[in-house]
Amino acid sequence: MATTAEHLKCKECGRTYPLEALFVCDFCFGPLEVSYDYEKIRRRATKDRITLGPPSLWRYADFLPVNSKPEVDLQAGYTPLLKADRLAAELGLKKVWVKNDTANPTHSFKDRVVAVALQRARELGFDVVACASTGNLANSVAAHAAASGTEAFVFVPANLEIQKIIATAIYGVNVVKVRGNYDDVNRLCTEIASEKKWAFVNVNVRPYYAEGSKTLAYETAEQLGWRAPDTVVTPVASGSLLTKIHKGFWELGETGLIRRKAPVVHGAQALGCGPVATAFAEKAEHVKPVKPDTIAKSLAIGNPADGIFALEVVRETGGSIESVTEQEIVDGIKLLAETTGIFTETAGGVTTAVLAKLAASGKIYRDDEVVLYITGDGLKTLDAVADTISTYEIDPNYSQFEEEVLGDVLKGAAK
Ligand SMILES: *Cc1c(COP(=O)(O)O)cnc(C)c1O
Ligand SMILES: [Zn+2]
Repeated sequence: MATTAEHLKCKECGRTYPLEALFVCDFCFGPLEVSYDYEKIRRRATKDRITLGPPSLWRYADFLPVNSKPEVDLQAGYTPLLKADRLAAELGLKKVWVKNDTANPTHSFKDRVVAVALQRARELGFDVVACASTGNLANSVAAHAAASGTEAFVFVPANLEIQKIIATAIYGVNVVKVRGNYDDVNRLCTEIASEKKWAFVNVNVRPYYAEGSKTLAYETAEQLGWRAPDTVVTPVASGSLLTKIHKGFWELGETGLIRRKAPVVHGAQALGCGPVATAFAEKAEHVKPVKPDTIAKSLAIGNPADGIFALEVVRETGGSIESVTEQEIVDGIKLLAETTGIFTETAGGVTTAVLAKLAASGKIYRDDEVVLYITGDGLKTLDAVADTISTYEIDPNYSQFEEEVLGDVLKGAAK
């Protein structure tokens, strides 16, 4: 069935373009975004049809810029939405849910954007795929390329966490470590994209890629019983995810699947790479690029392409963009793990820490229904917390167990 997408549209000047591998406006250099025939979606996408669809993001294919579902695919999405009562209580809130996107095939939300980008790339006739990545995107492109037997080149900063490099190279794709930061990698990839007929998922097919993030909003609404929460907290790297979660809820209202409501959107950044948070605090009209220096490497984009649009969304919905210290990131990872059983990577530490900050400052109300987007898995960033954990080590000897373990545990309990 042909896609409900109509054309690409410039986010700055509104000029339209055909649904090809284009990403910037020829006239004003603004970014292009997919726009849809919402009447068509409204007619096709009934709750019954969605509910009977596959248990993956493809249950929302009617809202995506593709003509068909992929034949071979990792079935990303439809991840759990967990009520997090212990976390809520810890923060003085009543109703908090965690959208656990660590449960994706390569353990981050990037599987959503990659699934959509690669399907569109296939439809446009590309046979090589590529990306500029802060780590998770590399994992996901590699896995999806392996599953479908497509040739892939992934470009990452050379100082990336070893877990992410191994979890990418294992798929047998070409991994290129670039001596520089993400912004250097991205610049190189933009140059390569103008030379080679390759689909760079987050460069020349970025408009399609970005749409994959909307599925986080659709699933959240469906899992809440077809409604939007009051407030969402989401990490910000390029800013794309934040803007697309907002677009997703808006579209559900527009097509009549939920009552119209725009949740308050809060964005989360690390202080060591918080250009959008700084622009928000300074009420600035532009986002000033920074040089990233943070353990939250998956969010370390110093010159965020969609930063300005993320600002627009939080200003429009009454939200904010906050940043947190390296220590707060680690504390956030531990808080989430100890209260929900979910081990997140540094990006999720950032998001959890920002939720804690917003709750403490009263910017999130006690009665608000809050959804926290946890976008990546802690096993990929073990070094960030390796020296904060404690364990016991004993001989296989009962009295040693009593003295050194139980004695110590009881002492802790007495404190
Ligand atoms: C890429 C990424 C993000 C942010 O994505 P943007 O759309 O670039 O803002 C958030 N969390 C994780 C774990 C990521 O890998
Ligand atoms: Zn334009």
